[in-house]
Amino acid sequence: MSQITGKVVLLGSSGVGKSSVFIRCTHEFFHPRTTATIGTLCYFKTFRIETTTVKLEIWDTAGMERFRGITYMYYRHADAALIFFDITSRKSFQEVKFWINELRNNCDNFNAPGKNLLFIVGNKLDLASQREVFRDEAYQYAREQGAVYYECSAKSGLGVQELFEDVAQNIYDKFEPNSV
Ligand code: GDP
Repeated sequence: MSQITGKVVLLGSSGVGKSSVFIRCTHEFFHPRTTATIGTLCYFKTFRIETTTVKLEIWDTAGMERFRGITYMYYRHADAALIFFDITSRKSFQEVKFWINELRNNCDNFNAPGKNLLFIVGNKLDLASQREVFRDEAYQYAREQGAVYYECSAKSGLGVQELFEDVAQNIYDKFEPNSV
């Protein structure tokens, strides 16, 4: 059985729920007041696709973005990037553009169209009644950026597993030469 490892970085402005999604994905629970520790966190999560084990190395900024402290090391050799915003905050959606630029400036993988795995993720789907960003608009924007669009809720868990399964599938398709 073969194994593929892919580095996945979580990006997005402070408060959008990156750490909560990270914890939901890796430990399957939600902590209502995530207190960010400073310094990156990294956790492995494995998926089985066909006869291949896809091991995602998922990196969380753990609050570094508040101090403009995300270093080149964080982005280095990333295979997939998940840029989060909060669907109840238009400001956080407008800031997605900033994060795409940061990614492109710091990681060459994201400058080659068609080769990078970029996901834009609207979090806090459990608060859909307070939406400031509509799905169609975000979906359209993601398409223009060559990104896949997802919505999820770290609080309810809705969409989180599916998101990371799709990331694993995309990494598999990219690296497994006979898969596509
Ligand atoms: P980060 O700064 O992007 O890592 O965001 P955090 O994970 O620290 O979350 C910021 C705040 O949003 C915390 O109070 C979380 O409890 C809350 N939060 C995160 N995800 C969700 C969600 O899916 N739904 C709701 N209602 N709150 C969330």
